[in-house]
Parts: sequence; structure tokens; C-alpha cells
Amino acid sequence: MVLADLGKSINQAIGGLVSGQQDVDEQALDGMLNEVSKALLKHDVGLRHVAALKKNIKSSVNLENTPPSQRKNVIQKAVFDQLVALVSPTGEQTESAVFKPRKHKCGVIMLVGLQGAGKTTTCTKLAIYYQRRGFKTGLVCADTFRAGAFDQLKQNATKAKIPFYGSYVEPDPVVVASEGVNKFKKEGFEVIIVDTSGRHRQETELFDEMVQISAAVKPSQTLMVLDASIGQAAESQAKAFKEASDFGAIILTKMDGHAKGGGAISAVAATKTPVAFIGTGEHIYDLESFTPQQFVSRLLG
Ligand code: GDP
Repeated sequence: MVLADLGKSINQAIGGLVSGQQDVDEQALDGMLNEVSKALLKHDVGLRHVAALKKNIKSSVNLENTPPSQRKNVIQKAVFDQLVALVSPTGEQTESAVFKPRKHKCGVIMLVGLQGAGKTTTCTKLAIYYQRRGFKTGLVCADTFRAGAFDQLKQNATKAKIPFYGSYVEPDPVVVASEGVNKFKKEGFEVIIVDTSGRHRQETELFDEMVQISAAVKPSQTLMVLDASIGQAAESQAKAFKEASDFGAIILTKMDGHAKGGGAISAVAATKTPVAFIGTGEHIYDLESFTPQQFVSRLLG
């Protein structure tokens, strides 16, 4: 994972603090912060977020009042804390970003995002997550635009033994979404996951459709599926979707590949929306719930 390189660079910058056998002073701290900033920028984290992180670390470390022997540890902790803050912009524990269904109640989750982000794949991963926790879970394919979307969902759902709903003939995604959700509701399903279309770019039509589907199925949670490998474009994409659909949490996909991941981290910070899960592969079981502390711990090894 290329993100690992980022962790390595940050560790190297912190490690370099004591290499000169001298006490860590403001100059050494500034030098380290510049190294950390450079590494974050190289990995596509936006300039604004990097500048804020640098400022927050500087203001949380008081070198004058810290004995020399403890300075490196204090700085290390400040870097860790600020990286955690960057990926948990609401300040909440991310546990709360994962929708919690209730037995014998019906929860609807709607997935939005651009075509190719990984929505259809992620739908099944998410359904498996809830099914394994004992919830009666169904999938609805409301992507009537992309030829093959329903077949793809059907294939994955069949493999995972998850009931699904879709149509080869109904062209209106709002109708399919409503029919599917109503059918599963009547049958006592506890988690109904709705896959939507994500055709082309951020067109008004796509956003209108999202708003209409949302009004029809009244989701308990809307999740944005965001491809972590698209770099800096992630921030503007997420902002546009946030305005249109006000999603409550993000799923970052393709965190296993060559994603630098920084663009996705900026998207999280810019939309002030927590990450619920990360996708770590093409396989239907490759989904991990996300906690900021664990993520940063792993990043820094
Ligand atoms: P959709 O257009 O948003 O529904 O996207 P799809 O679900 O069809 O996924 C697009 C491509 O991304 C497919 O080739 C998926 O196998 C792949 N994909 C989805 N999630 C992940 C992931 O977490 N890791 C990797 N490596 N590939 C993924």
C-alpha cells in the first residue's frame, strides 16, 4: 500500500529529531514539520489541511515546558493526535459512523458515488457485514442506467446468498428503489441496501435522481462511496455529493491498491464526514470497519 510510504516518511521525520544528539529545539521541530508536510502533500493531502495540521501540532507542543528527554515523545504524540483528527473530523468515535440496525425494525442504507467508485461491489460487502451480524439483509439495484449493473449485483448477491431486487424492464430508478424497499419491508427485512447509479460526472441529472430516490426510500443512512485512488479530485467530488445528498458517512474504496489516499483524507476533512468502512480489495469480503486511531497506528507502523 502506497499509504505505507507516507507512514515511513513521517516516522523518518520524527526519528530524525534526535539524530544530532542535541536537544530538540524549535528549529528541529520546524524542520520535522516541514518534512511531515512535504510527505502529506506528496500523498495528495490538500495544502489547507496540511497547513492546519502543522499549525495544530506547533500550538499543542510547548518545548519550553517539556524536559528535553520527553520532547520527542511529546511531539510524536502530537503528530499522532493530529493525524487522527484529520481522519475523524467530527471528533466522534467512528464506531458511530457505522449504521446500527435494530432487530425487528427496518433500516435503509443508500449508497451514492460516481460510476466506477465501487458502489455495486461495496453494496454486497456491506450486506455481508450486516448479515454476519444476524440481520435480515436485502439488496436493491436502483442503477437502471448502467447496462449490467443489475447482473453484477445479482451475481455478487447470489454468491453471498443475499436476497436481491432489481428490474430488467423498469427504466425509472425511483420506481425500482421504491418497489424493492417496500417488498423487503413487508417481508420483515432489517437492513435494506440500495445501490444507485453513478453515471459519468457530477451532472445535475444524477444529483436530481439521487434526491428523488432518497425522498422515495427515506434512508436511515446515506453513504458516499469514494475511490481513494483518484487523488486530489476526491475532495471536490465529495463536496459536490455532500451538497446534493448530504451523506452521513463515507466508504473509501481501493485502499489496497496504489492509492496514495491523501486525496480521500482531504475529502473526509473537507466534508467533515466520518469514514465508516474501507474497501481493501475486489473480493466481496474485503471490507473493514474504520477507526481513526487504528488507521493512524497502522499507518505509522
Ligand atoms: P460502481 O460503478 O460504483 O458500481 O463500481 P463497481 O462496484 O462496479 O466497481 C468498479 C471496479 O472497482 C470493479 O472492478 C471493482 O472490482 C473494483 N473495486 C471496488 N472496490 C474495490 C476495492 O476496495 N479494492 C479494489 N482493488 N478494487 C475495488
